[in-house]
Amino acid sequence: MVKLAEWHGKEVFRKYGIALPQGAVARSPGEAEALARSGKVPLPCVVKAQVLAGGRGKGGAVRFANTAAEAREAATAILGLEFKGEKVREVLLEEKLSIAKELYVSFTLDRSLRLPILITSAKGGVEIESVEDAAIDRQPVDPFPGLTAYEKRRVAKSFGLSGPARASLDRLLDNLWKLFQAEDAELVEINPLAVVGDGLVALDAKVIIEDDAAFRHPEYAEVRDDRTPLEEIAREKEIAFVQLDGNIGVIANGAGLTMATLDVLQEFGGRPGVFLDLGGTDDPRKVTEAFLLMAEARPKAVFLNIFGGVTKCDTVAKGLVEAMGKVPPSDRFPLVARIRGNNEKEGVEILREAGIISIPTLRESAQAAVAAAARSP
Ligand code: ADP
Ligand code: MG
Repeated sequence: MVKLAEWHGKEVFRKYGIALPQGAVARSPGEAEALARSGKVPLPCVVKAQVLAGGRGKGGAVRFANTAAEAREAATAILGLEFKGEKVREVLLEEKLSIAKELYVSFTLDRSLRLPILITSAKGGVEIESVEDAAIDRQPVDPFPGLTAYEKRRVAKSFGLSGPARASLDRLLDNLWKLFQAEDAELVEINPLAVVGDGLVALDAKVIIEDDAAFRHPEYAEVRDDRTPLEEIAREKEIAFVQLDGNIGVIANGAGLTMATLDVLQEFGGRPGVFLDLGGTDDPRKVTEAFLLMAEARPKAVFLNIFGGVTKCDTVAKGLVEAMGKVPPSDRFPLVARIRGNNEKEGVEILREAGIISIPTLRESAQAAVAAAARSP
């Protein structure tokens, strides 16, 4: 997923004529103060952490400042934060607008309807997940006629907007729809969309570009997102690899089995720390590469849970044994295996020769992995 930071999302908004507060990005308290002092950012202003997580307002990562000195103080406080596990490296300073009302607007894809959907609520400013269902309106949008007059009318009515505010809502929805289509977004969200005088201003921006459309958008290739350095390497090697905060490494194949394996470990009191999904690879070299990446994440134990299909058991076993030999002894960890399915016998034998026992049942193997992690120093 290409998730854009707020400032970046707003840059895209600007291209599509969506009204925004005047603002600029700072990477140090001194820069923040200078922006406020020079008038590049009008006072009073807002100082906002540029992290990908939401809920910054509630979490102390959005602060207000009346003077340039206060802007510096706010930037100092925010740049020192680690917000929901992410270090804050940049702040966005913006003029503080006087808000009459906070609304919610987004376009996203509804997977079950297989259509884009326009989601709106008159109760903006808080996370949409916490708004009661009755206060949220959802309108599927047929991509061929595109956004139509009656859909916009329904939004205007639910927002209670008329006259010039209504006209600016129409323009905003048209522009946002255009952006959603042309940028191949899977989500564009404005929360809050603020009523300021007769107009509407986007105070926040969340833009996620569809990964599969990345080839059409080289301009997003450099976007820093929330991947860890190991996840970044994995991505380059086209390995599905995700780091979590536990200590057991999981190697499985297919998203379904991988998720189920995480669940089972959790159920027996284990904490999955990194998982990799071998998917449908039948290349032992790829398995070796993936395994070495897993070793770099320093798990306390690794649970290998493979159901052999396209990915044959002996392919995985070969790759694994080869990789184990390349891990320096100081970095080794206990390995619990469960390999079933296509070429199971051969796979189990290869593992056995390397001193790894394959436990055939899910419960026993998962419990063994949890116990191994607990024993591991
Ligand atoms: P988050 O969604 O992470 O909490 P927001 O950008 O939505 O962060 O900001 C949180 C709240 O801060 C908004 O709901 C709004 O009330 C206020 N706010 C944000 N930007 C401005 C601004 N430019 N002027 C006035 N208030 C703002
Ligand atoms: Mg917001």
